[in-house]
Amino acid sequence: NLSEKLDKALHVLKGHGQITEINVAETLKEVRRALLDADVNFKIAKEFTNTVKEKALGQDVLTSLQPGQLMVKLVKDELTQLMGGDVEGINLSGAPSIILMSGLQGSGKTTFSGKLANFLQTKKSKKALLVACDVYRPAAIDQLHVVGEQIGVEVFSDRGNTDPVAISKAGIAHAKANGFNVVIIDTAGRLAVDEQMMNEIANIHKAIEPQETLFVVDSMTGQDAVNTAKAFNDVLNFDGVILTKLDGDTRGGAAISIKSVVNKPIKFIGTGEKMDAIDVFYPSRMADRILGMGDVVSLVERAQEQFDEEEARKIQKKIAKNKFGFDDFLSQIQQIKKMGSLKDLMGMIPGAGKALKGLDIEDDAFKHIEAIIYSMTPDERANPTKLNASRKKRIAKGSGRTIQEINQLLKQFDQMSKMMKMMQGGGGKKMMQMMGA
Ligand code: GDP
Ligand code: MG
Repeated sequence: NLSEKLDKALHVLKGHGQITEINVAETLKEVRRALLDADVNFKIAKEFTNTVKEKALGQDVLTSLQPGQLMVKLVKDELTQLMGGDVEGINLSGAPSIILMSGLQGSGKTTFSGKLANFLQTKKSKKALLVACDVYRPAAIDQLHVVGEQIGVEVFSDRGNTDPVAISKAGIAHAKANGFNVVIIDTAGRLAVDEQMMNEIANIHKAIEPQETLFVVDSMTGQDAVNTAKAFNDVLNFDGVILTKLDGDTRGGAAISIKSVVNKPIKFIGTGEKMDAIDVFYPSRMADRILGMGDVVSLVERAQEQFDEEEARKIQKKIAKNKFGFDDFLSQIQQIKKMGSLKDLMGMIPGAGKALKGLDIEDDAFKHIEAIIYSMTPDERANPTKLNASRKKRIAKGSGRTIQEINQLLKQFDQMSKMMKMMQGGGGKKMMQMMGA
């Protein structure tokens, strides 16, 4: 059932559980399933789990102090590595820097051209020029003009001209003459890889020698994305990949496969149709997303926003002095509630997301706990060890809960206090913050 599953997942994660070789194999099977679910190529997923297994055995995960944590870390690190390791920037060394967009029709080249121009202009103080080289569809030139207007970036186009090489050269000349630092060349794509399209983009590439050639790919195309990436890379030897349409449910497995096959960094992701829906690609965040480990980073960020630091310091002091009581517990519950819906929060906790899928958790899950605590006297809240049988009976009556529930709460409270004490020592600061302590 749910709580068992949750317990098990969290137990292992906290490093209390016994991990055996069977557990490792099973965990890796789960990981492999997650990868396949996320559209990662079968061969790559298999290689990946083999590597992790070797590393796990090499590092003696089984006998380590916190095998669960070590295992999760191994998987995540390896996945991060597989997607590129460090964050890669864009080469802006040219005068002007020329950025060439490539990719199939509908992949999001025109949209991303606008997003990138906007990004470079607002975040990097660059003066960007957009150049319209999709000569096959008049609507494509209009589209780029609309985009340019939205973000206040000049668009260079030449409607009578059907030679994209000539247009791109003229655009670059215009940029040089008018003090632009960046020229973004938007090109035509087709619905599938074909010779004419490849020749055309290869010719542009050769003629303008861009500092940066970017391959734009729709992350929803899954396995096809890998073949397309390979075809473009064979011809252009591009510098980086842009993964678009990573909003919604797409899990981004294409990121792993593409990186593995063409060995080029993913530089940006597109997360929506609007001009500000662009993000630098962080391999480690994507690793979290693919593993379904929950968006821990957002959880921590949200917790940090909401969370009362003063209160936190007080509680930490109390834990250190062994003075943590039920009033503090109450105030923690309130902190957690402030962070938002319980269901949302649980979904962000590693391991919990899957177990909770499809289950309805009420946001007032804390109600009974609160009722029990409210029925305690201040003295009892500060000194839970005083709660003997007759006091428990009184509290049960006052709160309308059973003695069993009260015992259960006491047990949970005890475990939690112990855990918090343990985390005080080590690197559990983040976890503490997540828990609102
Ligand atoms: P192009 O043919 O490669 O130039 O592709 P477009 O830039 O015209 O994009 C094709 C469609 O995808 C348009 O409807 C865009 O609004 C949409 N699109 C592009 N990027 C994204 C994205 O990151 N998220 C979503 N949801 N839609 C996108
Ligand atoms: Mg276009």
